[in-house]
Amino acid sequence: MSDQPASDASLSRLVCGDCTATYPASEPRIECACGGLLTVEHQLSGLHAPHLLQTFAERWTCRTGADASGVWRYRELLGDFAQPVTRLEGNTNLYANPALRRWTGSESLLLKHEGENPTGSFKDRGMTVGVSKAAQIGAKAVVCASTGNTSSSLASYAAFAGLPCIVFVPLGKITAGKLAQSIAYGARVIQVEGDFDVALTIARSVCQDMGLYLLNSVNPWRLEGQKSIVFEMLQQLGWVVPDWIVVPGGNLGNTSAFGKALRELAALGVISRLPRLAVIQAHGANPFYQAFHRGFRSFSPVTAHTVATAINIGNPANYQRARRAIEETNGVVEEVTDTEILTAKAAVDASGIGCEPASAATVAGLRKLINAGLIKPGDNVVGVLTGHLLKDPQAVVDYHTQHGWQAEVVAANSAAVRRVLEKVQS
Ligand SMILES: *Cc1c(COP(=O)(O)O)cnc(C)c1O
Ligand SMILES: [Zn+2]
Repeated sequence: MSDQPASDASLSRLVCGDCTATYPASEPRIECACGGLLTVEHQLSGLHAPHLLQTFAERWTCRTGADASGVWRYRELLGDFAQPVTRLEGNTNLYANPALRRWTGSESLLLKHEGENPTGSFKDRGMTVGVSKAAQIGAKAVVCASTGNTSSSLASYAAFAGLPCIVFVPLGKITAGKLAQSIAYGARVIQVEGDFDVALTIARSVCQDMGLYLLNSVNPWRLEGQKSIVFEMLQQLGWVVPDWIVVPGGNLGNTSAFGKALRELAALGVISRLPRLAVIQAHGANPFYQAFHRGFRSFSPVTAHTVATAINIGNPANYQRARRAIEETNGVVEEVTDTEILTAKAAVDASGIGCEPASAATVAGLRKLINAGLIKPGDNVVGVLTGHLLKDPQAVVDYHTQHGWQAEVVAANSAAVRRVLEKVQS
């Protein structure tokens, strides 16, 4: 444990992105009275960068308690929480994999695997902060709309906090693994006869009407937790900034959180230049890509259709903050087809690392940007894998069956097994 005092609650406040209103950080609201989204703003001037990095380095060696969490390690940059609801999330690996370096053409690629979080996706980093806030303000129940990973994560953290949890998922558009997690952790699962975008609209209005606490990525505290992906990545790199960070984009919570994390580190003087963000969308769910190619002059939602269920989102709630992140980092937005996603996923899986389809968009998009010459083979690149392979086992079986894989069945004796193996070798 370190002697660094936790940041004072009065040093953080909620600020509206649309008007000039501000609210105390203790306020149980996620939207401004004007309807705009709120952002947590920290008073950074009291923080001394060398002291802060020293504190982070000391906590790095902790194995127990909140300091051992890959989120709460950076608590000075998150807000004041005396009793975080934590599963010691984060602490995810950065993989240097030769096969994937060859496959993408990115010679020094590192992959940060957020699928190694407790419930199998990066959503745990946001949820530990969001549910800690829900507990702190005495929420009656917590609610989210989800394509599956947000609900899995919320259900788990709500169980840890002893809070009732209600999740809205799009009927028939959630993988069996994610549905199973939400049920298993004890959430009330309501399947909406519509897509994610409809489910989110419903969840938002139900929360407003019934005074329940919404934990989608419109919740400012979730984004605070997700900033820790960048903090931890840079700490792993000795605070040396890569040239590019590549991440999939769905509701654009991560894109927004990464932009905010980098802005704060620059303001603190921890980093002196920014990496460029490359956000990868599925072609069938690409409203951010389209807006980027219009120079962000206009934005139109789409009806989303992609195999990558975690990014099957047509009307991203965090569009404005994500746009700012792209503009401030001189970033780019790319799109990839479902075929490109599944081909990249097969490469990530075969490398031994493995990920769910949405995460493979990172690798597919990186390969495309290298081929286009926008990212150079020698650039330092960190790609974020957002979710675990086991989130969507059906995608694996379907893909490999279509590419010639067959189940091999043998009689239960060694002679029969020998015959089968000798046939393969000849
Ligand atoms: C939620 C999620 C995404 C999309 O992230 P956004 O922050 O909504 O853009 C991508 N991949 C996985 C595995 C996810 O769970
Ligand atoms: Zn406002």
